[in-house]
Amino acid sequence: MNIKANYIAGEWVGGKSSAENVNPSDTRDVIGLYARADAAQAADAIAAAQAAQPKWAAFTLQQRADALDRVGSEIAARQAELADLLAREEGKALPDAAGEVQRAAQIFKFFAGEALRVPGELLASTRPGMSVEITREPIGVVSVITPWNFPIAIPAWKIAPALAYGNAVVFKPAELVPGSAWALTEILSRAGLPAGTFNLVMGRGRDVGEAMLGDARVAGVTFTGSEGTGRRVAQACVTRRGPMARFQLEMGGKNPLVVLDDADLEVAVNCAINGAYFSTGQRCTASSRLIVTEGIHDRFVEAMVAKLKTLAVGDARRAGTVIGPVVDAAQLQQDLDYIDIGRTEGATLAIGGEALPEVDGQPGFYLRPALFTGATNAMRICREEIFGPVAAVIRAADADEALALANDTDYGLSAGVCTTSLKWAAHFKRHLQAGMVMVNAPTAGVDPHVPFGGRKASSFGPREQGRHAAEFYTTVKTAYVSP
Ligand code: ADP
Repeated sequence: MNIKANYIAGEWVGGKSSAENVNPSDTRDVIGLYARADAAQAADAIAAAQAAQPKWAAFTLQQRADALDRVGSEIAARQAELADLLAREEGKALPDAAGEVQRAAQIFKFFAGEALRVPGELLASTRPGMSVEITREPIGVVSVITPWNFPIAIPAWKIAPALAYGNAVVFKPAELVPGSAWALTEILSRAGLPAGTFNLVMGRGRDVGEAMLGDARVAGVTFTGSEGTGRRVAQACVTRRGPMARFQLEMGGKNPLVVLDDADLEVAVNCAINGAYFSTGQRCTASSRLIVTEGIHDRFVEAMVAKLKTLAVGDARRAGTVIGPVVDAAQLQQDLDYIDIGRTEGATLAIGGEALPEVDGQPGFYLRPALFTGATNAMRICREEIFGPVAAVIRAADADEALALANDTDYGLSAGVCTTSLKWAAHFKRHLQAGMVMVNAPTAGVDPHVPFGGRKASSFGPREQGRHAAEFYTTVKTAYVSP
């Protein structure tokens, strides 16, 4: 089997070792062998990026826009093939994977447009006869470090703005999903960027990733992953020798979905099922706390259990599958451990929670989606991110208590409320402490042209996506000219 290589300084470069990319829907299926870089190769990529960045920044805005647009067009044209690869390596159901690939294409196209709209300001000065110009310039070399749960969309929403504003990129995808990253790199390799503008180094966080933080030639680090790693990223960016790196961190969530007495039951159940279980619950925006007021509680639980019985668990690429497998054995074990913790803490497992060693004769990391009832907000299953198809129902006396419970968390990424009352919709929209609020809609996902990000322990630094992305990927210059 040939080994898919890293991409450094415009060349395909073998790694120091390699690793198998295994299909979680059928562990007998090895998708391919992918190179693993080491710290020295990460340094080579950083050097190449540093050398290329001024050349890329000197391209006209139109050339930069055209290059990104071509990438978006090719991703869109190859949607079916890329979605198949994504579902095969990550395990989300094919329709979700297709949506993610389409999103990646849209993001490249959106930032192709943004490349033409680099914002600036011209202000009058307090100094007589002078004006002040505020412009934005690229920051330089950006390290992009991504998780496994969105193998193409998260890389796209970091790489596209980095390039749009004239930066060079060193990209390290998560170890579990090198396939989508490699495919995206192959597309970028033909987009007409100067060699070294975009580099792919696949490998482990503790060697390749760390080398992308501590190098003083890296101006910024954009990271999505766990909270623990996020803190390490921040520390490395601040304590390294030479200038500090700016950093942008997207980390965990423990997102509440509040269901009020006056909610439309069908809307509420659809929001909860989609929010908690789609993409196998492996989303930082997953609604893992379902906070339900007294008057609708029993009907909601009954309807959830009935609906969960109908969700087909199986091979991500099989027609009809709604819930694909968990991504790997370690994540499955973490999910099962939390299910045990929930039981021990005194919550009731209303349905699901069993690992299925095989579905349709295929060995994989399958888990029946689990719903706890009788949970309290103090339980670990309601405080810690599980990152699997596991949700807990918390009973609330009324809307005020529901709001207080929703906000009683260390996290603040997204939050939702289901209600038919204009008054309560406005109240929750105003008072939910989260970066993204959804009324009668699932907690997951926002459009590519609006900001994505959270509060509290969920995020650090400027928002991602939309024109807000310029805050991270550019540096501001204030210039005076005396006539
Ligand atoms: P997850 O639990 O979702 O795998 P991680 O935070 O472990 O989240 O991983 C997110 C990304 O961060 C991955 O690409 C991983 O390789 C990388 N990573 C892990 N440890 C480090 C580290 N010490 N320095 C830099 N990157 C790291």
